[in-house]
Amino acid sequence: MDENQTECSRCGSCCANGGPALHIQDKELIEGGAIPISHLITIRKGELVHNPVTNSLQAAKNELIKINGVGKEWSCFYFDPDQKGCIIYDRRPLACQALECWDTEAVEQIIEKDLLSRADLIKEDDPLYQAVAEHELNFPCPDLESIIKLGCPSQSRELEDAANREVVFRTELVSTHGLSLGDELFYFGRPLFHLLISVGARVRESTGRLLVDWPSR
Ligand code: SF4
Ligand code: SF4
Repeated sequence: MDENQTECSRCGSCCANGGPALHIQDKELIEGGAIPISHLITIRKGELVHNPVTNSLQAAKNELIKINGVGKEWSCFYFDPDQKGCIIYDRRPLACQALECWDTEAVEQIIEKDLLSRADLIKEDDPLYQAVAEHELNFPCPDLESIIKLGCPSQSRELEDAANREVVFRTELVSTHGLSLGDELFYFGRPLFHLLISVGARVRESTGRLLVDWPSR
């Protein structure tokens, strides 16, 4: 970054690094249809997230909702790489409006404050309301920071079992409710086995079951 920078040069780097977390102030964008839920992903409490201020990974203290990413680089869904611009610029979320990469003061004011969660968006009459609660109860995010420290979780077999049961749980709901992958990622976040892969597990399938190994064990 140029230390003399005082305005956005529209380089696109911030958007190419992933979608923003949404705030309560962004709720209308979703309820008004500017951003459909199928373009969102739920990051559950405990999942590892990138802190743009410290530039490090840390466990999310609370659930958050982000705009989903695309491609290998996980660029924001609304980033147009050809134009290096935002295709919803006039309706971009609060965090995008606050981000000035040359001066993080404004974004630091809102980071981890008034974050949107599924509880703000999923109404009690939603057919998946109960399923979301059941999923949280039975398949919480494991302590990923401890797994990184230990290299292998003490309850590795229990986690493998939970990852398999969660796949069955999701598959049934996807089939019953005709969910797209985007819908699924909003309602239930990333699958447990993806979270385990993100902290070093090796996952393969054998005879219809996921087998989870820990190479560093
Ligand atoms: S705010 Fe984003 S698009 Fe603008 S100069 Fe900084 S990194 Fe590039
Ligand atoms: S919503 Fe728009 S401004 Fe915000 S990160 Fe995505 S592409 Fe960039």
